[in-house]
Amino acid sequence: MKVMKFGGTSVGSAQRMKNMVSLVAAAGNVTVVLSAMSGTTNSLIGISQCICDGELANAAKQIDDLEQKYITTADELLDNKELRDIAQSALNKYFAALRTYLDKPHGIKESKETVAYGEKLSTMLVDLYMKQCGLNSILLDATRFMKINKHGEPDLDYIRENLKAVIKKNPGFDIYLTQGFICRNDEGEIDNLQRGGSDYTASLIGAAINADEIQIWTDIDGMHNNDPRFVEGTSPVSELHFEEAAELAYFGAKILHPTCVLPAKHANIPVRLLNTMKPEATGTTIFNAPSTQSIKAVAAKDNITAIKIKSSHMLLAYGFLRKVFEIFEKYHTPIDMITTSEVGVSVTIDNECCLSEIVSELSELGDVTVDRDMVIICVVGDLQWQNRGFEAEVVNALKDIPVRMISYGGSNYNISILIQKADKTDALKLLSQHLF
Ligand code: ADP
Ligand code: ASP
Ligand code: MG
Repeated sequence: MKVMKFGGTSVGSAQRMKNMVSLVAAAGNVTVVLSAMSGTTNSLIGISQCICDGELANAAKQIDDLEQKYITTADELLDNKELRDIAQSALNKYFAALRTYLDKPHGIKESKETVAYGEKLSTMLVDLYMKQCGLNSILLDATRFMKINKHGEPDLDYIRENLKAVIKKNPGFDIYLTQGFICRNDEGEIDNLQRGGSDYTASLIGAAINADEIQIWTDIDGMHNNDPRFVEGTSPVSELHFEEAAELAYFGAKILHPTCVLPAKHANIPVRLLNTMKPEATGTTIFNAPSTQSIKAVAAKDNITAIKIKSSHMLLAYGFLRKVFEIFEKYHTPIDMITTSEVGVSVTIDNECCLSEIVSELSELGDVTVDRDMVIICVVGDLQWQNRGFEAEVVNALKDIPVRMISYGGSNYNISILIQKADKTDALKLLSQHLF
């Protein structure tokens, strides 16, 4: 069995839904994971924010607008009167439920419930369209088997056991359709796998059912060698090692949710990135790819804060780094990059919520400097230390850009460079010019 995940643009209109269903019909035995229609999750977050801020008339207007969009989509999608009536009553039910949030206190729980409607709506419509096409398909409610634990991490054992039980209760379908992104937490409440998390759902389901392949269908023909939102003339990379893809996703390649590679990697299931608008394109296959001794791609991660701790006495005497790390651990703040010298250590974080507490505790160990609005540029490929010259190529490409930190050697797959936000686009362009 394959897993096919379709992102927001791939279900972004009635026509796009029809296209994706024809791809599914051609594939046969599959589990299909859908995102919300593009724009819907943002709209729902906006509605939730308005309710939080007490702007109820504004929220009500946005709910009306969203409902209208779905009524139109359902009309365009479904010719069959009976199925259209079913869609209409489902829409009535969902939008009535959304409107109940206008009349009650709105906290994190209500906000997560609100945002979950995006994937419920898209799967409801596609399920009915599959029925109209005569496909042997069934819609499974993801909140019956997708679960995160109290640390917000997916509980793969639970997912495997419960998904298998749900499929066992509903045997014999060619297509099992479900929602990406949404899940339950350890309290049993509706929760989600963070923005872009439908990729993660697909990969977790793939691992849970030991799929042959996990396909991520999106609006571009695979992982490009640079960020197409900032650099022109990028091109797709046909093969990536799991480690390379994980680095790129974590360091800003939006095409993949940062943690989505891990479950597939552990289960050794290939992940293919494919384009719904150009299904014949090769795309990118992510697997235990053989080494190619080359630089493959570049990505950039924004909103990075660099913290330097400089000590007057032997900073790197043993025990010092432990003390530094313990402070970050205490405040549940992960470190992305680290560089050291005899007198100082620099680290980067992407979560500033405990910055002032962290800085105040670090100040007891030495002088602390903070640089905000930085960007990590991540260069990925088969960068074994025995391969010569690639560091020189990267540094040479960036010779006119001020560089705050450089890190290599943590893995065989990446070099990370910290620069200021203002230089991001230039740095990405220079790397494309020099490396590809
Ligand atoms: P979906 O809605 O299908 O999940 P996303 O918007 O999350 O799609 O991801 C696809 C987008 O990722 C592309 O349209 C592209 O703009 C962006 N992107 C950023 N970096 C890359 C990259 N290196 N390769 C391909 N796409 C990238
Ligand atoms: N709909 C969610 C989002 O926009 C999840 C996803 O599309 O992957 O973030
Ligand atoms: Mg996405």
